[in-house]
This record gives sequence, structure tokens and C-alpha cells, in this order.
Amino acid sequence: MTRPKVTRVKTLPEPATTGDFSLFDQEEAMIAQSEEMLRKLEEVSDGVRTLMRAYRQGYREQRRLVRLSDRMQDELRRLNQRLEAEVRTREALAHRLEALAAVDELTGAATRRHFMDVAAHLADQWRHEGRSSGVIMADLDRFKTINDRFGHAAGDEALRLFVGRMSETLREDDLVGRLGGEEFAVLLPGIGAAELDEVAERLRATTAAIRMPWKGDEIRLTASFGLARFSAPGDDIDRVLSRADKALYAAKRSGRNRVAINDDSTEEAAEDI
Ligand code: GH3
Ligand code: MG
Ligand code: MG
Repeated sequence: MTRPKVTRVKTLPEPATTGDFSLFDQEEAMIAQSEEMLRKLEEVSDGVRTLMRAYRQGYREQRRLVRLSDRMQDELRRLNQRLEAEVRTREALAHRLEALAAVDELTGAATRRHFMDVAAHLADQWRHEGRSSGVIMADLDRFKTINDRFGHAAGDEALRLFVGRMSETLREDDLVGRLGGEEFAVLLPGIGAAELDEVAERLRATTAAIRMPWKGDEIRLTASFGLARFSAPGDDIDRVLSRADKALYAAKRSGRNRVAINDDSTEEAAEDI
């Protein structure tokens, strides 16, 4: 019997496990890599999330600040408007007070203070410009008797009428001031001696022509006038007024309803009266 031929199979060595390992190693490496990538991605996404949170917070803060600044600007605008209104009110009040201080309520003439302020200022200006100018002082004659006979209201009306007629007679540049009671002064810019005399005479005649109807009666007025001019280099309003006052006194002394002048040449004479 023939023994079957036994082919001896050479036992192959166990497949090298290293080959298998390298295959798994690759996959595991891939997995590890992927995990690493995922971890990194997560890290990145965590970072982005943190950044986004910080950004959102910053943005919210910014919006809050912008809103706050808008509100503050609105508030500032309102305050500013209130302040401007307040300033306007105060300015109007100041103007009103100034006007009250400048204009005599009864007659509409300048108050004594305003007259003196303006006269002092203008006299300076005219001196520089070399313009001659003058002053007329006027005082109603025996005015007390008008009050006594017809009452204070009649006296008031007479004062108003007197100033009204004077203003009609004078030029626009002339300034009428009420120095007190029934005493007035007129400042006349750019006037010569002869013309000053003429104007005063016209004022005197206009006053004497007044017939003021009063409760069935007729009130007549006259006034006395004293004149002086800015002539000496150092003349100021006080000096010129004081000379005009002396002339007025002279006009009263010489019978009232008169015009008297006191310029440089007659000053001594007026002082002697
Ligand atoms: P003279 O001719 O010397 O100036 O006499 P007079 O009476 O005008 O002078 P006096 O100074 O004795 O009197 C002035 C009068 O003017 C007395 C005063 O009551 C009156 N008077 C002053 N201011 C006013 C006023 O605002 N209204 C009225 N109604 N009278 C006034
Ligand atoms: Mg008088
Ligand atoms: Mg008087």
C-alpha cells in the first residue's frame, strides 16, 4: 500500500503580527488624530465662544454708553434751551429796567440820570469833533398856582403837554430831559449861539401860546429859559448846565416868560445877578 504521499506542508510562520498592528495603528492614529483635531476644534470653538461672549458684552456696554450719552445730550440740550430762555428773559427785563430808568413815565422825556449820562458822553464826542453845542434849561412859571387852582392832575397834564410841544418844536437830534418837577433841559448838538437863541425864543413863544382846556376852564402856561453853550475847552455838562441854570434864574428875576443867555462873555454878569 502506497502510502499516500504526504505533501509536507511547510508550516508557515505565524503571520507577523506587526503587519496587523501597523494597520490598526494607522486607524488608531487616524482616530487619535481626529480626536486631536476635534479637541483642537473644540478648543478653537471654545475660544471663539469666549471671544463672542466678550464681544457681545463689549457691544452691549457700548450700546448702553451710547444710549446714556444720547440721554445726556438730550438733557444737555434741554438745559441749554432753558438757559437760553432764562438769558432772554433777563435781557428783556434788563432792557425794560433800562428803559424805565431812561424815560420819565409822566412826560416821556429822558430822566435826569439818562440825560446826564447821554450829555456827558455826547459832549465828549462833540469836543473831539470840534462841534459846537448848547443847552437850554426851562422851568414852568408859577406852576404851583396851576396845581393849586386846577389840581394835581391838571398839573400833570400840563407837564405832558409842555414836553409834547417842546419836542414838536425841536429837532430829532435834540434831547429833552426832565431834571426834576417842572424843570427841564434840552441838549442841542451842532448849534451856534444865534441859532440857540432862536430855538429858545421859539420854545418860549410856543409855550406861551398853549391853551389847555380843563373842565370848562382854559389853562395857560409860560416858562422861563436859560441858555449856555459848550465853549471853553474844559466845559463838561455839569459846568454848562450850571451856567444855563444861572441864566434861567436871571430870566425868572427879570419877569419870567423870558429867555436869558449865559455864555463866556456874559457869565460874569449872570453871576452878579
Ligand atoms: P417859579 O415860576 O418860580 O418856577 O414858580 P413855581 O411855582 O413854578 O415854582 P415852585 O418851585 O415854587 O413850584 C414848583 C411846583 O411844581 C410845585 C410842585 O408841586 C409842582 N410839581 C413838581 N412836579 C410835579 C408833577 O410831577 N406834577 C404836578 N402836578 N406838579 C408838580
Ligand atoms: Mg417853576
Ligand atoms: Mg422849578
